Amino acid sequence: MTLREPEGELGEALERAIDEAARLIGASRHVVALVGAGLSAESGVPTFRGPEGLWTKHREPDLRDYERFVEDPKRWWELRQERASRFAELAQALETAVPNPGHFALRDLEEMGRLQHIITQNIDNLHQIAGSQAVTEIHGNRTKLRCVVCNHRWPLEGFPLDELPPKCPDCKSGIVKGDTVMFGEPIPRDALDECISQSRMCDCMLLIGTSAVVYPAAGFPVDVKSSGGTLIEVNPTPTPLTELCEVVIRAPAGETLPLVVQKLRAS
Ligand code: NAD
Ligand code: ZN
Repeated sequence: MTLREPEGELGEALERAIDEAARLIGASRHVVALVGAGLSAESGVPTFRGPEGLWTKHREPDLRDYERFVEDPKRWWELRQERASRFAELAQALETAVPNPGHFALRDLEEMGRLQHIITQNIDNLHQIAGSQAVTEIHGNRTKLRCVVCNHRWPLEGFPLDELPPKCPDCKSGIVKGDTVMFGEPIPRDALDECISQSRMCDCMLLIGTSAVVYPAAGFPVDVKSSGGTLIEVNPTPTPLTELCEVVIRAPAGETLPLVVQKLRAS
């Protein structure tokens, strides 16, 4: 006896979910993808949660990161330059990661006019490398720097770092830090406003590779649902939002999103 469903049946259920997802996307006006670390798992970037997650294998992080930066930004910059990352495994994977078929499927959906926006919690820049245009990075981008006062952003490469901490060349008053949002740091206002406005317009949200426990991101699907929109989850494991979803694709995003694109192209 086996606890697993026979392969055939599992395949059929998955196929039905993919069909249904394509139908819903095709019937919607403003589709937004809310993306989490799971989308980049197939690019070799470890997630935080889940069986192979960094926090599952190691320990939960120090939630005072941002407080430390505010207390002593010069020290923070010095540590950053010594590359004293507590997540060396993540940092190394990020250096070499390339987009996977899931990222390219989202790019295709945008090009086809079927996906209006991506709200990503990922900092890995892989959406941009894949060619997606309309992307809001709610937790920042590891290849950029940002002024904490005016939110101006610059590519990390080429930014002068002779004086630490660097001052904003734009507003002249703010300190410049990495764009990645630290634990305890407020989400930059411009990114948050865009997410709220996208969620208001959205009538179908794809929840891709997110454990849906990090706020405010996990709240957007709830808002979409309560204003009459539909939710589609793409995740090999259940999340607290699963029960709100019209369609659940219980499989890796890189394997299934390209099939959704195929269905939509054929329709
Ligand atoms: P998370 O680590 O909390 O959860 C990952 C989710 O992805 C889990 O629900 C897991 O079941 C699912 N998953 C795993 N493999 C998948 C696959 N192949 N296809 C689809 N889903 C898959 O991630 P989170 O919800 O994004 O929250 C963690 C925070 O950590 C984020 O806010 C992000 O800023 C940061 N982070 C970013 C990266 C990155 O940039 N790639 C990586 C790790 C963590
Ligand atoms: Zn500034």
